[in-house]
Amino acid sequence: MPFSHVDNWIFDLDNTLYSGDANFFKQIDVKMTAFVSRFLDMPPVEARKVQKQYLLEYGTTLSGLMAVHNMDPEEFLNDVHDISLDVLDPDPALRPAIETLPGRKFIFTNGSQKHAKNVGDHLGIYDLFDGVFAIEDAGYVPKPKPAPYDMFIKEHDIEPKRAMMAEDSARNLKIPFELGMKTLLITSQADWSHEPEHARPHTGENTPDFVHDHTGDLSAWLHGLEF
Ligand SMILES: [Mg+2]
Repeated sequence: MPFSHVDNWIFDLDNTLYSGDANFFKQIDVKMTAFVSRFLDMPPVEARKVQKQYLLEYGTTLSGLMAVHNMDPEEFLNDVHDISLDVLDPDPALRPAIETLPGRKFIFTNGSQKHAKNVGDHLGIYDLFDGVFAIEDAGYVPKPKPAPYDMFIKEHDIEPKRAMMAEDSARNLKIPFELGMKTLLITSQADWSHEPEHARPHTGENTPDFVHDHTGDLSAWLHGLEF
């Protein structure tokens, strides 16, 4: 069984620990457009182009705003992560699935610590993790840049060959694969055409070579593992 040697389980947060089909993340996307519009004093249509251009060029919109406009990250993070959890239905099967995994469990997110706690608590799983590595911990350098992976691995003393990473964004799995981790792509069948192609959750069709397995149902996939 290809994942049976794994004892470090690393999960992205958004659209991974909950389904991208939930349309929860869309709220953050909308808040980001409004923030960029205010911050750069431009109409929302223009702001959205800048937002997505920075996502492409810098890994996250936040990273681009910091690099190009010297923006304070905290104000941005507090604003865009101030969203309603109501549309997010916790999956009751997820907690037991994560709880029974052998070894350590981590959240590794391009979002903030506060966002990870809000969402993790809402999903009823936050207390199960041995560590949360968020964008502040990475000095605001996001995945898929190499630096945050190195920092995360060092901070938590992770042996990549005994680790797996789950992500909805395929491009964020390339470095984990190159490091020797197993990679799991979380797919979404929702309509993500409002996002640029590189930033969309993957549909599961024609997955890249650096993806070992993929699923649209993380709980079911975890429950199917045999140890
Ligand atoms: Mg994600």
